[in-house]
Amino acid sequence: MSFTVAIVGRPNVGKSTLFNRIIGKRISIVDDKPGVTRDRIYGEAEWNGKRFTLIDTGGIEPTVKEKDIILNKIKQQVDFAIDNSDLILFVTDGKDGLTSTDLDIADILRKSGKTVILVVNKVDNFDSTKIDNEFYKLGFDDVIFVSAIHGLATGDLLDKITSYI
Ligand code: GDP
Ligand code: MG
Repeated sequence: MSFTVAIVGRPNVGKSTLFNRIIGKRISIVDDKPGVTRDRIYGEAEWNGKRFTLIDTGGIEPTVKEKDIILNKIKQQVDFAIDNSDLILFVTDGKDGLTSTDLDIADILRKSGKTVILVVNKVDNFDSTKIDNEFYKLGFDDVIFVSAIHGLATGDLLDKITSYI
């Protein structure tokens, strides 16, 4: 079995954009409407001679807008990632800052004892984002600020991922 990395996070933080950036092809569906992704997309990645399988756990969001149902779906994805991956990329949004859903996901991930890299996405430039220590307060050792859309610092993220392989 190849080393498996799963991407988790609430809708619209840029999971699919990051997946496509790492895989180098547009496989996962990116959409301005939150949650438009087919259920679990798999891709094969290689960096510095190391290979791994990457999973976008995006999932098919329910068409209903009820927060509870969306939260349930996110939790299912997080549980899937905990059971089926070696490493988890927990993606958050550096423009929005942390939300209560992010805090819920962080709790589940911390309790799992799994290796987690906290990815703060949408850091397109340092002026327009809320880079403060709220992200460090989540308690994950690895915190990486990236812009998936522009490919900023995604090489640093790949270095970090492959350091675990
Ligand atoms: P997902 O629901 O978590 O899979 O998020 P998507 O990848 O579909 O992206 C949601 C929206 O955020 C889209 O409009 C993306 O273009 C946008 N987005 C993704 N990454 C970035 C980024 O690095 N910077 C900015 N400004 N927007 C981004
Ligand atoms: Mg998606």
